[in-house]
Amino acid sequence: MKKNNDDEKKNKKVKKPKFAFQTRSQVDILDDGYRWRKYGQKAVKNNTFPRSYYRCTHHGCNVKKQVQRLTKDEGVVVTTYEGMHTHPIEKHTDNFEHILNQMHIYNPNNF
Ligand SMILES: [Zn+2]
Repeated sequence: MKKNNDDEKKNKKVKKPKFAFQTRSQVDILDDGYRWRKYGQKAVKNNTFPRSYYRCTHHGCNVKKQVQRLTKDEGVVVTTYEGMHTHPIEKHTDNFEHILNQMHIYNPNNF
């Protein structure tokens, strides 16, 4: 079967802003000032720890985040944010600033 040109249009992807960072943390969920609801979890290939999926609970906001603890160093949590919040931060927290400070200390090149 030959594909027609219409199929190509469907492949157009809308890219959301995405960024990830690693933190050395005992807790999986960083207190980043937003409220999150877990909506999924799945096992990841070559990884001891499952990946958890969270969605911002604010009405109309589509921001998602993924949380994954590293197998090679279980003290490290990788958090990936996808999308932009459509609202101001839910509550002010010094905690997140503290976490961001930790980021500067953590250097993946040390492994
Ligand atoms: Zn949000």
